[in-house]
Amino acid sequence: MFRSSAKLFEQANDLFTQGNFPAAEGKYADAQMKFQKDGDPQSAQLAGAYAVFVALSHAGMNATAYAAVAVALKNLGGATLKLGVREVPAPSLATEVAIVSEDIAALGLPRDTPAQQAARAQALKQAGVHYQSAIGQNIVFVTELFQKETITGMARAFALFALSEEMQGDAAAYTDPKAAGAHYQQASIFWTQAKNSDAALSARTRGQELQKAVKCWFCGREVTGLAINFFELPSELTVALTKSESASVLPTFDVGSNKIYSCRGCNSTMNTLADGWALKRSAEVYVKLEAEIEQLRKQIQQRR
Ligand SMILES: [Zn+2]
Repeated sequence: MFRSSAKLFEQANDLFTQGNFPAAEGKYADAQMKFQKDGDPQSAQLAGAYAVFVALSHAGMNATAYAAVAVALKNLGGATLKLGVREVPAPSLATEVAIVSEDIAALGLPRDTPAQQAARAQALKQAGVHYQSAIGQNIVFVTELFQKETITGMARAFALFALSEEMQGDAAAYTDPKAAGAHYQQASIFWTQAKNSDAALSARTRGQELQKAVKCWFCGREVTGLAINFFELPSELTVALTKSESASVLPTFDVGSNKIYSCRGCNSTMNTLADGWALKRSAEVYVKLEAEIEQLRKQIQQRR
């Protein structure tokens, strides 16, 4: 049965409207080949751009795939794409796809060293700025289409600003926990603007932990940053012990939980000593058990 290239193209559009993206992708590719055979390179290019665009439905978090599609769409010039019931200008779709690519690439950046963390924070912020300026209060069409998530450009921008602040917080945590805490507090504000209350709460809590200042129960050093520069340890505090610190400005223990504060230095030393004792004790127990087992073995043999 003879099918014209235009007919193939129309079928592809119908499949797209139905949400059958894999079938639409194949049909657009068929149309592209047919247009080429018919000597219509311009239509072939258009059909090819549709095919690679629809292929994003199974691209997942592949920034390179998104970047390649952005280029293919940009090459269409001022063409308008018919995507389901929508008519979308190729240049604006190209811009959007490029921003999503930037977003995915920023999320995938390594974050093992402070330098990497700083670069990742900058990339996340930059992608956020692009969502803010190019998409703003509009829905991110590509994300809604392929990731089934309805979100405005602004909401995504605020989420990326928040992630950027958290990354800066992580980068500063070991050198300047107070500044790190401030980044987490700012992240909390951005999460609220992104309407993500769970993330806002956990960022605020982390900010408070990082900015918490105490005095080590053991050595008396004043330290800032829970789980970074000091830890909370369970203890048996008496009233007399808790009263003995009234002269100090910073607390050495938590009143509610009776946990004492231990700076990282004291804590790691105690851990090393405790590990050493534990190993020594378990070796002693092992030697004792081995002797007892040998004794039992002999008794059994004698009974035979
Ligand atoms: Zn200490």
